Amino acid sequence: KWSAWIQPLAVVYWPYTTNPRGKDFCCALTRVSLSLPQKNSKSPQGLVGLRNLGNTCFMNSILQCLSNTPDLRDYCLRNTHRTDLNNNCRAKAALMEEFAKLTQTLWTSVSSEAISPSDFKTQIQRYAPKFVGYNQQDAQEFLRFLLDGLHNEVNRVTVRPRLPAEDIDHLSDNEKGKKMWNKYLEREDSKVVDLFVGQLKSSLTCSECGYCSTVFDPFWDLSLPIAKKGSGEVSLTDCMRFFTKEDVLDGDEKPTCCRCKARRKCTKKFTIQKFPQILVLHLKRFSENRVRTSKLSTYVNFPLKELDMREFASENSMNAVYNLYAVSNHSGNTLGGHYTAYCRNPALGEWYSYNDSRYVMTPMSSSQVRSSDAYVLFYELASSSHSLVKGLNITWNYFKQYLTWVPILFETLSNTLSFCLSLPGVPGLQGLQSTFGTFPFVPLQQESLIKHS
Ligand SMILES: [Zn+2]
Repeated sequence: KWSAWIQPLAVVYWPYTTNPRGKDFCCALTRVSLSLPQKNSKSPQGLVGLRNLGNTCFMNSILQCLSNTPDLRDYCLRNTHRTDLNNNCRAKAALMEEFAKLTQTLWTSVSSEAISPSDFKTQIQRYAPKFVGYNQQDAQEFLRFLLDGLHNEVNRVTVRPRLPAEDIDHLSDNEKGKKMWNKYLEREDSKVVDLFVGQLKSSLTCSECGYCSTVFDPFWDLSLPIAKKGSGEVSLTDCMRFFTKEDVLDGDEKPTCCRCKARRKCTKKFTIQKFPQILVLHLKRFSENRVRTSKLSTYVNFPLKELDMREFASENSMNAVYNLYAVSNHSGNTLGGHYTAYCRNPALGEWYSYNDSRYVMTPMSSSQVRSSDAYVLFYELASSSHSLVKGLNITWNYFKQYLTWVPILFETLSNTLSFCLSLPGVPGLQGLQSTFGTFPFVPLQQESLIKHS
C-alpha cells in the first residue's frame, strides 16, 4: 500500500557520461524505471468518511468538498499554513490548525473508519458562535464562515493599512478593476484568497444621460437564482444569464446618477472582471418570504467538464473554462433535510459519494453527479489555464532538499548555481545557471520523464 503513496515530485537528470570536472567519477547510463502516478492505482487517500455528530451533515459535506480541493489540501498536507499563520493571532490560529489536522487525517488514514470532526467543530464554534449546538445549518453559509475564518488566520497582511479614498474616475474600467483588486490585496491576501476570490463588476447606466458608473467587488462565491422555465429543467448557463441579466432600478430603487445629480431610473448589470481559480456556485434553492422558507427542487443541468464562463466576462478572457470537482447536495425539504457530498478524488480522478448518515463513502459513476439535490458546486479552472504554475511550482529551497538526495551532483553544482532566469509573474518558474550551462525550465510531458539520463 505504501508504495502507491509515493509519487515523484522532481526528477534530476545527469546528461553527461563523465564528470565534467574531469575527476574519477563516471556516471553510468542506466535506465531506472520510475513509477509515475497511475490513474487507476487504488490507494486509500482521501476516501474516508466523517462522523455525524448530530445534524452536522452540512459541515461534513463542505469539509469533504474542501478536502478534495487539491491546492488547499496540499497547503495543509505540506504544513505550508504554519509559515503563513498570522503573527498577530498566532495564539488564536486554532481553526486553521484543526482544519489542517483534519485534512491530514483524511488523506493519511489507512483505516476505512469514519473520522470524528469534533475538535474542528469546537474551533469553528469559537470562531462563529452561530454553529454552537446541533441544529441543522445552511452549508453555503457555513462555507462562507469557514473560508473567512481560515483566511483571517493565514492572512499575509498583519496590519491592514488604512487606504485613503482615491479618485479613479479618469481610469479605464480595466485599470479601475486592477486598482481595486490591488487595494483589496493590500488588506486581504492569503492562500484562501489566491484560490477562491474573484472580482465582480457592476455597471449602473443612467437612463437619462447615459452615464455609466462601475463598481468592483470581490466575491467568494456566486449565489445564482434558479431561472424559471416551463419545462422544469434549467441549465446552469440559464441561471448565470439570469444572474447577469440587465436589471431596471426604478421607483423606490432609483439610484442617484452622479452626472445628473438626481435620482434616475437606471439599469444594472453584473459581469465577472476576474475569475477565481476555484469557482463556487451556490444555487439559491431556499427562498425566504415573510411567512415561511421554501425550497425549489428544480433540476439544474450543469456540466462536469468545460463550463465555459467567457460570455460573462467583462473583457475578453481566455481563462474562464472550468471543470467540476465537488458538489454539496441537499435532499429533503426546509423542515428536514440531509446534506451529502459528491467529490472527484484528485488522485484517482473518479467520483465518490460521501454520506455521513452511513459513515462511508461509495464510488459512483460520473453520470450520477447531476441531480436536483445539487446545492453548492465547486469548479476548478481548467488546467490549460494554469498548468504551468501548478505543474512546476517548485521553489529553490524546496528543490534543494531533493537535490541533496544526489550528493555528488549536488556537490558539483552547488557552488556554481545562481539565479539568472525568471519569468515575471509566474512564481516558482525560474531557471538556474551553472558553469556547465543553463538549466532553464521547460514544460514536460509526463511520458518523457522516464529516460536514460
Ligand atoms: Zn444621469
